[in-house]
Amino acid sequence: MKALVFHGTRNVSVDKVPDAKLEKLTDVVIELTTTNICGSDLHMYEGRTDVKKGKILGHENLGIVVEVGKAVDTVKKGDRVVLPFNIGCGFCANCERGLTGFCLTCADKSVIPAMAGAAYGFAGMGPYAGGQAEYLRVPYADFNCLRLPEDSVEKENDYVMLSDIFPTGWHATRLAELRPGESIVIYGAGPVGLMAALSAKIQGASQIFVVDDHEDRLALAERLGATTIHKKDGDVGERIRELTQGMGADCGAECVGYQCTNSKGKEVPNLVMNSLVDSVKATGRLGVVGVFIPEDPQAGDKLAKQGQIAFDFGKLWFKGQKIGTGQCNVKAYIRRLMNLIHHDIAQPSMIVSHELPLNEAPDAYKHFDNRDDGWTKVLLHPNSM
Ligand SMILES: [Zn+2]
Ligand SMILES: [Zn+2]
Repeated sequence: MKALVFHGTRNVSVDKVPDAKLEKLTDVVIELTTTNICGSDLHMYEGRTDVKKGKILGHENLGIVVEVGKAVDTVKKGDRVVLPFNIGCGFCANCERGLTGFCLTCADKSVIPAMAGAAYGFAGMGPYAGGQAEYLRVPYADFNCLRLPEDSVEKENDYVMLSDIFPTGWHATRLAELRPGESIVIYGAGPVGLMAALSAKIQGASQIFVVDDHEDRLALAERLGATTIHKKDGDVGERIRELTQGMGADCGAECVGYQCTNSKGKEVPNLVMNSLVDSVKATGRLGVVGVFIPEDPQAGDKLAKQGQIAFDFGKLWFKGQKIGTGQCNVKAYIRRLMNLIHHDIAQPSMIVSHELPLNEAPDAYKHFDNRDDGWTKVLLHPNSM
């Protein structure tokens, strides 16, 4: 089969590789019809993780079941399914509490014995191949496959967002404990930030502020009814206080991660976290879903190399704020978010900018990595184009 393979920093290509196949009785194999490129793929692309050469990337996957393991009960050949990016077993101590982003069974414990969490095609998340390919092996298929309703073809570009960014944006608002009628400040108008804005709107936020420095992305945030704040417009905290009777936002979401940059494009890893503490009110809540990693050997400063930032902890403590972090437990939300799409409450495909065949993926990575204007979200269709 053909698959997008990582060969080193900014070096990916579509190669011929052995077909994905059933490895356990509880697996299925799917034929991908849509698989997205994600902002978090760029951390690997840029050589900012320890991902191994030869890895097939891609964790945002939707397709048709083509092979079914003997111990799979409910998933059938021909089913159209979307897969949470995190792979859960469904029966470990974390999965049974809904914390499937921290599955203990599927995690790779060979390096860190206390490791939790697994994902398709991702650094540090186990040996699993990604789905930017023609076929993908799905472990614990009964648990991980979400079968789609009858409008699955028509709304494929919406449903594929259930694999990661829509639930992750939703998770940011839940970690921030947003309540109807409250205000929220969202840092980052990339796909996840935009999905957080959509989620906040659905949950009845009174004011949604979105902070970024890309005009094209801010324009999408505006379409979602958000008040946009350009980083160049000066101090974000001051601006938010002006718009909230001097209080600050009720809660905030971090949707950027450790590679955040200042208005001059220089990486300043603590910039967004400290601005978040500043712009959210005393006793407010912060949801942090942007990726931070324990080690970043390529980082520009000494702290960041060890996964540390100079964080305004004193200010956080003094303001009595609460903070929630970590990757999204997709299974916890995915069925309900699917219903929002099915009943036309949410249309996450509004951020799609490109739909391409798999062999154009290397070029798409280049454009997406350059943050080229208009390259908001790339969908690959490995089998249908
Ligand atoms: Zn993703
Ligand atoms: Zn588990």
